[in-house]
Amino acid sequence: MNINSFMPVKVISEENCVINSSKIFKNFGKRCLVVTGGSSAEKSGALSDCLQALDKENITYTVFSGVEPNPSTKTCYNAGVKARETDAEFIVGIGGGSPLDAAKAVAIFAANPDFQHDSVYVRAVPSAHLPLILIGTTAGTGSEVTGVSVLTNSDTGLKKSISGADCYAEISFCDYRYTCSVPKAVTVSTALDAFAHAVEAYLASSANELTFVYSEKAISLLKDFILNINTFDGTLTDKEREQLYMASLFAGFAINISGTDFPHTLGYYLTENHNIPHGRACATFMPCLLERAKKYCPERLGAIENILDCNSEKLTEIIKQAADVNIKLTEAQAQQISARWKNGVKNFDRSPGGFTFIDCVEALKAL
Ligand code: NAP
Ligand code: ZN
Repeated sequence: MNINSFMPVKVISEENCVINSSKIFKNFGKRCLVVTGGSSAEKSGALSDCLQALDKENITYTVFSGVEPNPSTKTCYNAGVKARETDAEFIVGIGGGSPLDAAKAVAIFAANPDFQHDSVYVRAVPSAHLPLILIGTTAGTGSEVTGVSVLTNSDTGLKKSISGADCYAEISFCDYRYTCSVPKAVTVSTALDAFAHAVEAYLASSANELTFVYSEKAISLLKDFILNINTFDGTLTDKEREQLYMASLFAGFAINISGTDFPHTLGYYLTENHNIPHGRACATFMPCLLERAKKYCPERLGAIENILDCNSEKLTEIIKQAADVNIKLTEAQAQQISARWKNGVKNFDRSPGGFTFIDCVEALKAL
């Protein structure tokens, strides 16, 4: 028996939940900093609902907007300074994975005036942090329910995650209506991310009885979208949006326990150097993951094929076309890129069959 788990976030997931549950904001103070990306917080309707809820409860706020995709440590640091300058007592993050992950770091920076932008990687878990409320607007990362924040180190340009008890929100508001404005390309990439989470969690050696249930639910919710992803015309019904968002949260519950596999680690390289969005970057390495699963855990792969009613060869073709990454690397380049992970990574260790430095070089060469 293994149902080991920890997920302390209070999830509130009904339509209109931000306004209906506005009283909850009051539990965290009278002043807050609202952290957003570019324009998505407004476009999605989440920002105006949030500000309406704060006004209703007489909470004053400052909005820090402009968190970039794959948020940098310096942006988060600057927002942390802003939180202190405005005496914020709590942080609200609104957006896709980027602003949500940024808000997690902002809550830490705000409570640690002696931190430099990269001190956030020096982990004393749990570090001091302000209370955090998240409002998701993409159906992908599941950051609403994970204790992980993925940040780009402003000095090196490299993506690196932090995790721990201080990276969980107190409250996550999950209203699928905010995902309805997500454009076609982002819908594709974020759905691939959710699918990658569900599959990687399912195939990881760290999977347990609970993550199997979460992954299976996520995969079945994603089935129709993924199998038809290459003819997706950008339109979805509300019901379909709700289904994708629910899938992303179930996949988030799964990776929160088991973590992800090597595709997530290698995907960072594609995002950092070739500007490939996170979901497509991770999906690029899924064919290699499926190949390894065939060899090292065929019964788990078979279970995924059964849920999808699609064999892994066909799935590989679908994912390759959807990820749409055409980059060729030489042996020397693959060696050089892989060197970064030479001392081992947890994602490699829990991948099917383990995943060595040599496997990593081969996977990059096979792109
Ligand atoms: P994102 O980077 O948050 O957003 C991608 C784009 O979609 C942005 O241009 C954003 O606009 C736009 N957008 C977001 N919501 C929208 C909406 N409702 N309507 C219209 N446009 C919208 O994308 P993401 O895939 O959700 O997050 C990716 C990040 O999450 C990566 O850094 C990845 O490493 C991380 N991640 C974290 C976890 C975790 O557990 N914490 C897991 C997986 C991935 P704006 O710029 O205006 O916001
Ligand atoms: Zn991901």
